[in-house]
Parts: sequence; structure tokens; C-alpha cells
Amino acid sequence: MIDLRSDTVTRPTPAMREAMARAEVGDDVYGEDPTVRLLEERVAELLGQEAALFTATGSLANVLALQGLVTAGQEVLCAADAHIARAELGVHAAVNGLTTRTWTDGPLALDQIRELFAPDLGPFFVPTAAVSVENTHNFSGGAVLALEDLKALRAWADEHGTRLHLDGARLWNAVAATGVDAATYGGLFDAVAVCLSKGLGAPIGSLVAGSADHIAEARVWRKRLGGGMRQVGVLAAAGLHALDHHRERLADDHEHARLLAESCEIDPDSVATNMVVVPDVDVETFVAVCAAEGVRVGAVGPRTVRLVTHLDVTRDQVELARPVLVRALASSRPTAAGS
Ligand SMILES: *Cc1c(COP(=O)(O)O)cnc(C)c1O
Repeated sequence: MIDLRSDTVTRPTPAMREAMARAEVGDDVYGEDPTVRLLEERVAELLGQEAALFTATGSLANVLALQGLVTAGQEVLCAADAHIARAELGVHAAVNGLTTRTWTDGPLALDQIRELFAPDLGPFFVPTAAVSVENTHNFSGGAVLALEDLKALRAWADEHGTRLHLDGARLWNAVAATGVDAATYGGLFDAVAVCLSKGLGAPIGSLVAGSADHIAEARVWRKRLGGGMRQVGVLAAAGLHALDHHRERLADDHEHARLLAESCEIDPDSVATNMVVVPDVDVETFVAVCAAEGVRVGAVGPRTVRLVTHLDVTRDQVELARPVLVRALASSRPTAAGS
């Protein structure tokens, strides 16, 4: 089975499992797990932030990131298809008491952000407290945000006293695609969330990074929300192993995604990282033809499927999947076939 549904389907490698088995552990709620401490320090430094906190999920890391930037009754601006708006099941409203307003013009629409911004005019309107962006941007197909645009966003935010949040679930992919280092991206933001359980292939784990004060408060909130964890050095060890061994290879995933795109009649140059979005197909047919030949793909819209490459998809498997995708496309898009 070649599983292209998501980069979350990876299994820990034998070497990762060994690192987990060897991990030194302690009670992390007491702050006594040395491996977790090591991971938190490592990631803070990688992201150009003062401190970081280990969380079970990226959603929780985003909650803790925004919790420190926005108080209840304020708003966050984000893209209409941001993960925080579409895929975190309302937690930012429920827990952080914040509202979102969204821009529609791509992953980072500076003009629309300027228009949407609401100054604090007293107790009549919801003021904008933060802007949240995603890099890479999941639902636009793993798009990478341009560093110049992010710098312009930072300059604008400084002028307006607005805080910036980065949902960097796949920041490592952006780094692999551009060669810009993670601290250059991360340092532009007031708080950053990253995942270890996507392209990096750890079985679980995310971190929120920010100022020392912010992270100290996030530690309290993590416990309050039931997210305190005990001897999780075994999990942090998987994350450290992933950071050491699985970042550079993300470039292979990106190359693989380009090959899959070609088979789906998509310009490989439009594929920025490890995702290929195939539009205008009969989704059921596409998924079924693939499944019958041992390739799993995911539907992400009524007429859209998504292919995601990752650690557990080898080059040979990509070559095996390619003709299957050609057949799936031909069956699911009869009018386009042969044109
Ligand atoms: C996966 C993901 C998250 C976090 O998801 P969890 O399932 O909670 O770990 C956050 N943002 C983006 C863009 C993601 O793709």
C-alpha cells in the first residue's frame, strides 16, 4: 500500500524507536524530563525564539500561541482556509474567546490584511490583536510564503501594534524548499507553532515557541487544559531524532511530489513542497481507481483530491504510483482525457 493521504501517516523508523527506547526521562510536569528540556531548548533556538514548550498536538500549540497574543474579545486575522479557522474545531473561540476575520486572496494577502485591520476604538467593535499565517500553507497545497512578504507583514504589524502568529506545522518543508533558515522565518513572529509529526515523521509532538514570559504562561495553560504530560522524554526523543535526521530529506519529498504532479497533468513548477492538489475530478472514481491498485489518496473537496509525499513513500513507490494516477485521472475526468 502506498499511502499518499497525508504526511501524518508515517511510522517511526527503527532508528527512531531505538532513540525513544534509550531516552532519559523524568516527570515533565515537574519540569524534570531532561529529553523534553533538550527538545524545547533546541526548537526555541532553531526558531529564533527565547523559549518553547512541548505539546501533544499542533492544535494545542496554536491555542497556546494565540492565547499569549490575544485576549478574549479580540480578533485574529487569518486566511479563509487557515488550519486555525477550518480544522481546529472552534477551539480558538471556545478556549481563547477570540474571533477571526478572514482574507480570501491566498495564503498571505497584505492588501486585504490592511483593509481588514480594526483599530481599538473602544467598546463597540472587536479590535484586531494579531495576524496568523501558515507556512507552508496546508489547504492551498503546501504553498511557501515569500520571505519578502513576511518581512512586509512584520513591518506593517509593528506600525499597528499587532502581534504575529506563525502556524508552522510544516515550516520545515518551507525551509527545505527555500534554504531560508527556520530562525529567519521564526524570528519574524511573536509566537510560532511547529509540528514534529508531519513531514518529520515523529509519531506525536508539536511545540509552541515565543518569549520566555509567553511560554511560562503557556506552561500553566497547557496544564489547565489537561495537556500536562509526564515521562514523555520517549516522545521528545523521537522529535529530536526527527530534527537530526529527517529535515534534509524533505527535499526528496518535494521532488517526489513534482513527479506525481506530472502524472496528474499538473505543472511540477506549481508544486512548492510535498503536496499536490488535483482539481476537477470525480473524487469517488479517482479514489477508487487508486485504491484498487494499492494507492491511497485523500479527498479534500467535492471535486479535489490531494497527494502528499512523506518519509514512508520511497522513490520506487512514487514510480509505481505514477501510472496508477494517470489511469485514475483518465477515468475520473473523461472530458479531459486525450485532450
Ligand atoms: C496538522 C496541522 C496542524 C496541527 O494539527 P494537529 O492534528 O492538532 O497536530 C496545525 N496547522 C496546520 C497547517 C496543520 O497542517
